Amino acid sequence: MSGHNANRNGFAERMWSTTAMARQFGVHERDARNRVNLGQLVPTSRTASGRARWRRADFAAQIAPHASHIPRAVAHPSGVTVWSGLTQVVAQPGRAIEVSARAVTLMLLPEEARQLTAILPAAIATADAQDPDCTCRELTSPAGTTIVPVPSCPVHQGATP
Ligand SMILES: [Zn+2]
Repeated sequence: MSGHNANRNGFAERMWSTTAMARQFGVHERDARNRVNLGQLVPTSRTASGRARWRRADFAAQIAPHASHIPRAVAHPSGVTVWSGLTQVVAQPGRAIEVSARAVTLMLLPEEARQLTAILPAAIATADAQDPDCTCRELTSPAGTTIVPVPSCPVHQGATP
C-alpha cells in the first residue's frame, strides 16, 4: 500500500512528500527539506528508500509555529482574541467566531469552525491546483510559484489566473 496509510476510520489517507507539503502550506521547499534533514521536522514515515512522507495534519502541526504568514493571536483583556493577517478571525467565549476575508465576514459557531478547519486544507490544495486545461506557464523561484499568463491559454486567455 505505498503512498497511503489507513487512518482511524479505515480510510486510506494520502501521504505527501516534503516538497508537496511545503507548496501547500506556502513555506519554502528547500527550507522545509533542510529542516527535515536537520531533524527539526519529523515526517510521519519514510519510504524504504528513506524519503520523508507526511500526513497533512502532522506537517501542519510542526510547520505552523514557523509559518510567518499564519498570524499570531492577540488576546484582549475583554476576552476577545483576534488573529489578523490576510484573513481576520475574532473569537470570544460563548460567541460565534467571526471570520473575515477581504470584504466578506462569516459568523461561525465553534462546531462549524471545527468542520471548516478539517475541510480547508483540502480546499486550499484544490484551489491552488492548476486547471488541467490551463496552458499558462508555471515559474518556480525561491519566493514561491508564479503563474505566468499565456494568451493562448484556453482557460485564462492571457488574463492573470
Ligand atoms: Zn491559464
